[in-house]
Amino acid sequence: MTHEPTIYELSQPGRIGANLPSLDVPKADPLPADLLRTELKLPEVSELEVIRHFVRLSQLNYAIDKGFYPLGSCTMKYNPRINEDVARYEGFAGLHPLTDGEGAQGALALMYQLQQWLAEVSGLDSVSLHPAAGAHGEFAGILMIRKYHIDRGEPQRTKILVPNSAHGTNPATVTMAGLSVIELPADDKGDVDIEALKKICEGPERDTIAGMMITVPSTLGLFERGILKIIELVHDAGGLMYMDGANMNALMGVVKPGKLGFDVMHYNLHKTFSTPHGGGGPGSGAVGVNEKLKPFLPAPHVDIIEPGTDDEAPLYGFVTPEKSIGRLKAFHGNFGMHTRAYAYIRAYGGEGLHQVSRHAVLNANYIRVGLSDTYTVPYDRACGHEFVLEGHFEGVDKVHALDISKRLMDYGYHPPTNYFPLIVPEALLIEPTETETKETLDQFITAMKKIAQEAKENPELLLSAPHKTPVSRLDEVRAAKQLVLCCAPLLKDS
Ligand SMILES: *Cc1c(COP(=O)(O)O)cnc(C)c1O
Repeated sequence: MTHEPTIYELSQPGRIGANLPSLDVPKADPLPADLLRTELKLPEVSELEVIRHFVRLSQLNYAIDKGFYPLGSCTMKYNPRINEDVARYEGFAGLHPLTDGEGAQGALALMYQLQQWLAEVSGLDSVSLHPAAGAHGEFAGILMIRKYHIDRGEPQRTKILVPNSAHGTNPATVTMAGLSVIELPADDKGDVDIEALKKICEGPERDTIAGMMITVPSTLGLFERGILKIIELVHDAGGLMYMDGANMNALMGVVKPGKLGFDVMHYNLHKTFSTPHGGGGPGSGAVGVNEKLKPFLPAPHVDIIEPGTDDEAPLYGFVTPEKSIGRLKAFHGNFGMHTRAYAYIRAYGGEGLHQVSRHAVLNANYIRVGLSDTYTVPYDRACGHEFVLEGHFEGVDKVHALDISKRLMDYGYHPPTNYFPLIVPEALLIEPTETETKETLDQFITAMKKIAQEAKENPELLLSAPHKTPVSRLDEVRAAKQLVLCCAPLLKDS
C-alpha cells in the first residue's frame, strides 16, 4: 500500500481553500491577541486538495453503497435515496427542536402516523418513538415492565428470563434496569428448552419473575417454534413478555407479535425500516406496547389532542401517559430517523412490507442451502432473515471463522458477523437482506466455496488475509485498545 499523505503533509504556507463572500456587515475588531493560539498548526490546502483527500479516505472504507454487506443481525439493506430527500425537507430538517406543538403540526402528524403504522405491523396497541436505538427501546420496555409490577403491588418481581440465543443487549438491558437475569438453555434444535422454562415458572422463583425477553427470530435466525407455549407459561407465572423485534425484517406481514401475546417489543427503525446505520450514527428504537403497558409509555408521547372533522385535520400534541416511566432522551427521539422510516413505509405500503420480509427470508434460505454442502450449518432447517454456519473445516484446525471473514474481504465483501451467537462454535452469522439480486447471492456463494477450497489447499492464504484491502491483517486486540485515529502511520506499516 502506498503511503497516504495526511492533510498536514499536503499543507503549503499561504495556500487557501476558503472563498469568503465580501463583507456586508460592519467590520468588527479582530480578536485580542491573548485569545489567539499561535501554536495551532492548521493545514493550508486548496479546495480541490481537501476534496480529493476526503474522497480518497472515504474510498478506503467499505459501505453498503459499495458492495454486499451480509452482516448478520444488522440488516444492512439498501437505504432508498428518497428517504434522504424527505428527511432534508426544510420544514422537517429546519424545524427548531423547541418549536411548540402548534408550530410543529406537520412533524407531529408524521410521528403520529408512523406510530400507527408500526402498531399495525406489530399488532400492538400503542407505539412510542422516543428511544434512540434498539438497546434504548429495550431499556424503555424493561422499565415499563418493572413499573407495571410495582404499580400492582408486586415489587418482588425482579427477575427476567433470557434464553441463551438472545441478543447480547437483552441481558445487558436487564442488568442496566437493576433487575437480574435467569438464563435459559436452548435445546438441540435451537429452540428454547421448554422443560427448563416450565421448571422455573412452576418452581420457587415463580413469584419473582417479572417477565421474559426473547429475540424473535432468535440470533440463530430461527423462528421459535414453541413461542405460544412459552408465552402461556410466563403469563401464567405472572410475568410479561418482551419481544426483541430488531429483526422484524423476517416477520412483516407474516407474524404480528401482539397477536401472539407479547406485551411489549421494540423495533429497530435503522434496520428494518431502512435508515442508514453503523459507525455510531443515530438510530431509532421505537417501542410498542399492548393495553396493559400503555399507561407506562415514555413521555412526552405524541397523540391527538383534538379530533379532526371532515374539513379540518386533528390537532396533535404531546401528552404524558398516566403512569409514564418518564423521559429517556432530550426532545422527541431522533426525528430524522422518523422521517426516513415514514418515507420507507409510505413508499412500500402494507403489501410491499410483506414482500420485503418474504424476500429477506427467501434470500437467506437461498444462501443457506447453497452453502450447506460445503460448510457445517448447525441448525439446518428453514431460517428467517439470517442463518448461522460454522467457520471451520475438518482436518484444517488452524483455519478459524475469522480467517474466512478476512479472506472474504479479498473477494470484495464485507464479512458476516463473527463469533456471534455465542452458542455456535466459530459462528458466522449471514444476513443478505431482501435488497440483493440473485446474481449477488450466487457470487457470494461461489466466493465462500472457493474459500473453503483454499482453506484445504493453501490455508496460509486465509491466515494472512486480507491481501487486497488498504490495510492488511491487524492485531485486533491491539487495534481496539490503541486506536490510531490518523491513517497515515498504519498505511506506512503495511
Ligand atoms: C441490533 C440489535 C439490537 C440492538 O440495537 P441497537 O440499535 O444497536 O441498540 C438488539 N437486538 C437485536 C436482535 C439486534 O439485532
